[in-house]
Amino acid sequence: MNNSENNSDKIFSDDTHLIQSFADLNNLKQSIGRLAITGAKGVYVTDSEGKRYFDGMGGLWCVNIGHGNADVIAAVTRQLETLDYFSTFFEFTHPVAAELARKLATLAPDRLNHVYFSNSGSVANDTAIRILHHYNNLRGHPKKKKILSRVNAYHGSTYLAIAMTTPVFSQGWDAARDLVHHIRCPKREPDEMNLSDADFIDILAEDMEQAISKIGAENIACFIAEPIMGACGVIIPPEGYHKRMLDLVHAHDIKYISDEVITAFGRLGHMFASKEVFGIEPDIITTAKGLTSGYQPLAATILSDEIFDVISQDGAAFLHGMTYSGHPAACACALANIAVMEREAIPEQVRKTGKLFEAGIKSLADLDLVKEARASHFMAAVEFNRPSGAPDNINIGQLVGDAARARGLIVRPITDAIVLSPPLILSKDQIVEIHQILHDAINA
Ligand code: PLP
Repeated sequence: MNNSENNSDKIFSDDTHLIQSFADLNNLKQSIGRLAITGAKGVYVTDSEGKRYFDGMGGLWCVNIGHGNADVIAAVTRQLETLDYFSTFFEFTHPVAAELARKLATLAPDRLNHVYFSNSGSVANDTAIRILHHYNNLRGHPKKKKILSRVNAYHGSTYLAIAMTTPVFSQGWDAARDLVHHIRCPKREPDEMNLSDADFIDILAEDMEQAISKIGAENIACFIAEPIMGACGVIIPPEGYHKRMLDLVHAHDIKYISDEVITAFGRLGHMFASKEVFGIEPDIITTAKGLTSGYQPLAATILSDEIFDVISQDGAAFLHGMTYSGHPAACACALANIAVMEREAIPEQVRKTGKLFEAGIKSLADLDLVKEARASHFMAAVEFNRPSGAPDNINIGQLVGDAARARGLIVRPITDAIVLSPPLILSKDQIVEIHQILHDAINA
């Protein structure tokens, strides 16, 4: 790596007690590779030395309306002044959680009307599984507990969520892994590149059917899927894929969980992607991130009427809840964030500017180093060829990421690829500027 492109010197001198997430703890001990972000406004963040960057990751796939929105900050402040905290446990409720739940029921597909709040996408997914296990117990199907997930999925990092995540991440979490079976995801193998979408979907459906017959539908609670797989490289399914999978699992009395932690709240041009973009009505939608644009931690597990009807007939308390489920400040934040999106027609804008972003990313495929450039609206990945002779320990994604950062753009490197999910408010000029930086960084 070129020294001028190494940002590792930009650290706080006193952060030795902070354990960062998804980070090499040995490097942390040696203070390698930390960049301290100290400020943010609009589509930019600033580091501790005052250097400004495009926030090409939207924080972590979440700052959909951009940083520093005054309306959202004011709404959170007002809520804290009115009711800082009370729980939604036992017989208690409060207006702001109830109002947000009503709003989400309006925005989500028709049958999804019942909302369980938590604080992270991981917990929203764990909650979905606990609810489905409870539902199956109550229906007299106590063996119906297994989960179908997919290779290259990311569903979070609580013990169960990491087990549902791609096997590479979940190795070593064997206890929960016994509950999960990973089937293929819609990423084509080299010899499948020329197949029609219909033929490719047939292969994926066959893989799903084999898994169901091996495990037994009577043992399977659900299939969990991101509409577009994000963290493992923005894998975009062929048209009709989700509908085929949904029909297949429903034929076996298996529920479909759509993990919309990234894809909701405008990222793909709609408030939710399941129905509007992919034409399916799942049984459960989980969401987080863009729900508050990251200003407050909040997640939601949205249930169909049918599931809610069963679990609400139990006659006993459902023993599930987190102290901060439906935290008033987080709910006020989400309501204000959604109001900004509606007032400024952000999803509609994304259908135009997101298409420009997508086209610019796809045009990078012309560069020699680029193996594949995938994008849908403001979700994008650029995957690189390994130059011949490149040592095994060289991560091309990291090198391109560092080169982009040196040029004022933060992206997320993954193995031999980078991913981007910028704020949805990028102007056309800013989109052009980002593409130019990427172009230069890849060539560098
Ligand atoms: N599901 C998906 C699709 C995600 O991308 C993520 C996080 O990136 C999660 C779940 C986990 O969310 P959290 O990090 O808020 O627990």
